[in-house]
Amino acid sequence: MRDQEAYGKSLLNWYDENARVLPWRISPHDRIAGRVPDPYRVWLSEIMLQQTTVATVDPYFRRFVSIWPTISDLAAAEESQVMGEWAGLGYYARARNLIRCARIINVEYGGVFPQSKSTLIQLPGIGSYTAAAIAAIAFDHQEAAVDGNVARIIVRLFDIDIPVAKSKTLIQDLANELVPMTRAGDYAQAAMDLGALICTARKPKCVMCPLQNRCKAYSAGTAADLPRKPPRKPKAERVGFAYVGRRQDGAWLIETRNRDNLLGGMLGWPGTSWTETAPIDDEPCAAEWEELLNAVLHSFTHFNLSVIVKVAELPADCSPERGFFLPASQFDPLRLPTLMQKIFTVASQHLGKSR
Ligand code: SF4
Repeated sequence: MRDQEAYGKSLLNWYDENARVLPWRISPHDRIAGRVPDPYRVWLSEIMLQQTTVATVDPYFRRFVSIWPTISDLAAAEESQVMGEWAGLGYYARARNLIRCARIINVEYGGVFPQSKSTLIQLPGIGSYTAAAIAAIAFDHQEAAVDGNVARIIVRLFDIDIPVAKSKTLIQDLANELVPMTRAGDYAQAAMDLGALICTARKPKCVMCPLQNRCKAYSAGTAADLPRKPPRKPKAERVGFAYVGRRQDGAWLIETRNRDNLLGGMLGWPGTSWTETAPIDDEPCAAEWEELLNAVLHSFTHFNLSVIVKVAELPADCSPERGFFLPASQFDPLRLPTLMQKIFTVASQHLGKSR
């Protein structure tokens, strides 16, 4: 048996017994029996899972498919509703691309997902990994979907002593060679499950691993030390103001964030830019703004943010220079992105005290 087939067989045998049950997935037994995955669910789950854990995605995925069961339903959705349902999942460019992609597939492809990686990769929000994952999982194409979990497995299987960022091509080439001729979709999911359950970042469970007798890092005793970490760069620190204002009738002063900024298109509190130098205080309307003692801290991928929060009870005739008033009956803090929810929590405690 060729090495490629032997790897695939070992991994698939393990998967048939140990596959995770996930709401977007067809079980290996159902798949062998001829049930096919819904490409819409595969695509939606893969977009949501970018930089996000399975546990976090699970309730969002269930809610999205209950509101929008097909790609045509999602394509017809109001952008603001989709953004609201995405609130809390983070990386909001994904939600904007989700809508764009659904509309393109609905109009240009008649609501039918293209199958090849080369076509999928041209759609908004679909990069090389996601295109390979959809092509493999939804259509059984012989593509290697290499995310962080799979890269870690490859690095260990071949005992690659170079940080992943510097060995991406090598890892992808090796992963391509290992994809079996059949059951490519199950194989892709098996590799994801092995990375999540057995070949974990910390303390890999090599004694339970179906690939142990083919793993060079296990033989060399280096599994727990791989992948090698690149030297850490300190994160940049940024600061900004946020203004939480409540009018006498209970309405909140809110703005839709500029599309070109982080959290673009989401609802949030009016605020300044987030800069590495001291920001200029720029209150959205005349009122007795009070600065809270403690800043709200939040960490983005590339920088840490401190938000100086100012709060005010706003007069009935307040006419803000930016933002709009959202009546209390329509305001749901859970529809705000996580940072804005954090700001609301501290600001509302203070406003509550001052009443
Ligand atoms: Fe990962 Fe250990 Fe399995 Fe190698 S033997 S693939 S290091 S879990």
